[in-house]
Amino acid sequence: MRKVTERDDYEVVVGIEVHAELATESKVFCGCKTDFGARPNSQTCPVCLGMPGALPVLNRRALEYTIRAGLALNCSIAVRTKFDRKNYFYPDLAKGYQVSQYDIPVAHDGYIDIEVDGQPKRIRVRRVHLEEETAKLVHAGDDIISANQSLLDFNRSGIGLIEIVSDADMRSADEARAYLTKLRSILVAIGVSDCKMEEGSMRCEANVSVRLRGSKEYGTLVELKNIASFRAVHRAIQYESARQIDLVRSGGRVTRETRHWDDARGETAFMRSKEQAADYRYFPEPDLMPLEISREWVDEIKSGLPELPDARAARYAREFGLPASDAALIAESRELASFFDGVCDALAKAGAEAVDRTDGPREAAKWLVGDVSAALNASGIELSQSKLAPELLAELIGLVASGKISGKIAKSVFEEVFASGKRPGDVVRERGLVQISDAGQLAAIVQRVIEANPGPVSDYFAGKEKAITFLVGQIMKETRGRANPQETNRILREELAKRA
Ligand SMILES: [Zn+2]
Repeated sequence: MRKVTERDDYEVVVGIEVHAELATESKVFCGCKTDFGARPNSQTCPVCLGMPGALPVLNRRALEYTIRAGLALNCSIAVRTKFDRKNYFYPDLAKGYQVSQYDIPVAHDGYIDIEVDGQPKRIRVRRVHLEEETAKLVHAGDDIISANQSLLDFNRSGIGLIEIVSDADMRSADEARAYLTKLRSILVAIGVSDCKMEEGSMRCEANVSVRLRGSKEYGTLVELKNIASFRAVHRAIQYESARQIDLVRSGGRVTRETRHWDDARGETAFMRSKEQAADYRYFPEPDLMPLEISREWVDEIKSGLPELPDARAARYAREFGLPASDAALIAESRELASFFDGVCDALAKAGAEAVDRTDGPREAAKWLVGDVSAALNASGIELSQSKLAPELLAELIGLVASGKISGKIAKSVFEEVFASGKRPGDVVRERGLVQISDAGQLAAIVQRVIEANPGPVSDYFAGKEKAITFLVGQIMKETRGRANPQETNRILREELAKRA
């Protein structure tokens, strides 16, 4: 499928709905546990099984988390709110209705700032509301079509869920991905959800339409479902927008429908039309009292918010002089950020042994964004699962800063530390990698190399500056990379000058 480019006369309009499971210990309307991966149907009671006559009781913490999310997304918090019943029939919903919020969400009218290709943009957040999870259907077979039976797990039923709805402010698949990445980093930072798409604790749907560039009116929107990763969101929006543009260009019309993303085929497929969409017959939930949210409580929650990713990135740039892109990348991941803080602490504790207050953190950031991220990607594990500890990276940075090893040797030491969890100092000692900086020792090696390479030496005297690189390479080869590069260069030039 052709990629839609800037040159096209059509633009893509995207709005996103995200569902995030709240990280509360118990469910939203009963006291059942919410542990992921527990034995099916072991965390249930009459309320979350939807038994007739069982009455819900609101989990105060779930409401607090919803308010916290609303505040972190720059929303206004409702003074009065209520729950509503969303009525529909599906096997994962035993009561025949979902307790949700209709016209008065807990939080409304906020925003998230994103950046794509260096362009900042504000995406409006229309609402954040609280509702309950449904049970989980497990299809016995490869997929829902070929399955000959389906099983129900009610452990998920009744877990608190927040729905976050954006305005249709995104204009590309890249912006949609940036929005989701930022949203996830905020929700994780404030601790309201672990946002694991692979475990289903964060799910998203995209509303995609296209229109002529410059037009004020929106095109007919198509809802995309079954998007299971950020990569899938990106691919699904690219596919769907190209499909719609081709359709309109060839004289067709986009119809209002819901489409299913097929990740294996890389296509969207028709699911149901607008005419088949359910009327949910929302009405106020009679078993739960309307809520009044006191401003004192909102202020208290607001003052308890931790540092958010944007603020953290700005602080890293200000305090340590990190490049903005490194700062943003590290601050966006709670794991990377706390590791980075750990390295900075360890560097500070180790004393000023040749590590400057900002040089150390800047080096730490370079390692994290570079070699550490690459090693994690290659091994497919998270930082917390790796053997690398902040103290180990700090020690490695100290070894380079104090001139004990070169930057190049440090990369090889890092590989071993990452794989084994050994102390960098021990690796350097065991493998005899200590850098040679002693002038006398280096001069002897330099002289040997000069005598053994008369050709390149005369090339150098003939004005070929590149011959120096070759000679340095020979010295590095002789010392297995341990020669101090600056000293080697200096001594080599000195020795050559003597022979000119
Ligand atoms: Zn329960």
